Amino acid sequence: MTRCWRTPPSASRRSAPRSRAAKACNRSSTSASRVGSWASNIIGAVLKAEKQSGWVERSLRSVWHPCTQMQHHASGNNSVPLIPVSHGRGAWLYDHEGRRYLDAISSWWVNLFGHANPRINAELKDQLDRLEHAMLAGFTHAPVVELSEKLSALTGGVLGHSFYASDGASAVEIALKMSFHAWRNSGKSEKQEFVCLKGSYHGETIGALAVTDVALFKDAYGPLLRASQTVMSPDFRQAFEGESAEDVARRAAADVEQLFQQKADKIAAIIIEPLVQCATGMAMHDPLYLSLVRALCDRYQVHLILDEIAVGCGRTGTFFACEQAGIWPDFVCLSKGISGGYLPLSLVMTREDIYQAFYSTDVRRGFLHSHSYTGNPLACRAALATLAIFEEDDVLVANRARAAKITRALAPLAQHERVKHFRQQGMIWAFDAVDAAPDFSRRFFSTALEHELLMRPIGSTVYLMPPYILDDEEIAGLGQQTLAVFNTVIGA
Ligand SMILES: *Cc1c(COP(=O)(O)O)cnc(C)c1O
Repeated sequence: MTRCWRTPPSASRRSAPRSRAAKACNRSSTSASRVGSWASNIIGAVLKAEKQSGWVERSLRSVWHPCTQMQHHASGNNSVPLIPVSHGRGAWLYDHEGRRYLDAISSWWVNLFGHANPRINAELKDQLDRLEHAMLAGFTHAPVVELSEKLSALTGGVLGHSFYASDGASAVEIALKMSFHAWRNSGKSEKQEFVCLKGSYHGETIGALAVTDVALFKDAYGPLLRASQTVMSPDFRQAFEGESAEDVARRAAADVEQLFQQKADKIAAIIIEPLVQCATGMAMHDPLYLSLVRALCDRYQVHLILDEIAVGCGRTGTFFACEQAGIWPDFVCLSKGISGGYLPLSLVMTREDIYQAFYSTDVRRGFLHSHSYTGNPLACRAALATLAIFEEDDVLVANRARAAKITRALAPLAQHERVKHFRQQGMIWAFDAVDAAPDFSRRFFSTALEHELLMRPIGSTVYLMPPYILDDEEIAGLGQQTLAVFNTVIGA
């Protein structure tokens, strides 16, 4: 066991002052920069003045937390903890009593290079003194121009036009509207339907929810949603005896073709999370599926929208997941990691022919969509700093070695008798617990916190989606603690 990982307090999470050794170790594992220690002193002083429990009570009184049954936070035996975060550094989040949690899920999949990253911080501080925001209609600014140019270059200029919003769901709304409107401007206004995959997740606003297939998020709002067509998922766990992941991909593509044959003239677009359907439980598929669907979209004149909100920005091993299939879509949606996990930023990248379908002297043929914070300079500057780190540190290459180490650290879980479908794609790991209790996910979350880990299984699927900065010690601890948590919760 590595020195830095404290054994969890057996009695209560809320006791146990940290040992001096653990504190010292703690400091050495975070950035030793001058800025870092200066900030720590200030934070230390603030820490003393604040009471952890006060924040929890005040939050529960006035903050309605996302994706949460608030009653689960009510005190009682089974209550789910609410952790007031005081500060973050590197892969760690700290609470007001100095306890720390390794952010093994990158704070809902957004953080790429750690919390309080000194390089991103420096760029943002510089931007703050230049321009915090200006409207993007009738005005433009360096961060949004440079970001659009850089992203275009990453697609070899194929997706050369970027349209900006703030959250992932807004990017999905934009792609759906753009697809429909592009067909309408091309005299094909009967193309109005959208196709999504079984288990798909594209966000929770009304339009995005209509192409989402996660019952828990969708069912209550059924009457509000426009119907969409759902096709088979290429999830390779569905392989029959003797079938490969590629065979499953072919079967799933055949399902798409059958639908296109029947009614492609009514379909505007198919929307896909390439390589990994994250929110449904890290369902992974072979890249062949994407190239087969790309060919079908060309043949049947249907737009291909790739939602890379979770899987983009190097998460699957390439900058864009679709690079592994050797294809480009008609629209790509990015958000989450693009700003390094700092600020809400999303965007839709599209092709020249789509852009041209809107280009006209007639205002109504234009894409008359906007959000107040479209192209926010601070968010764009955070994205530029993030892209610079990818370039300067050769992150995609470094991640290959890092991923191999993480896979090795998780080997005892891959071979565990209560684990099935251990799988990995780039910087995502997942496995399914065999015979998990109904409250597995909630208990895992609570137990993980006691082991200095932030992890939230999806149903009985445990996954890791860490930032791209874990060092060897953190990787070893991550493997050991995940195993310990799993054994405790599964009752092994
Ligand atoms: C998170 C996510 C979204 C929605 O993004 P928000 O910023 O939460 O609105 C859409 N699609 C995918 C694949 C996602 O993972």
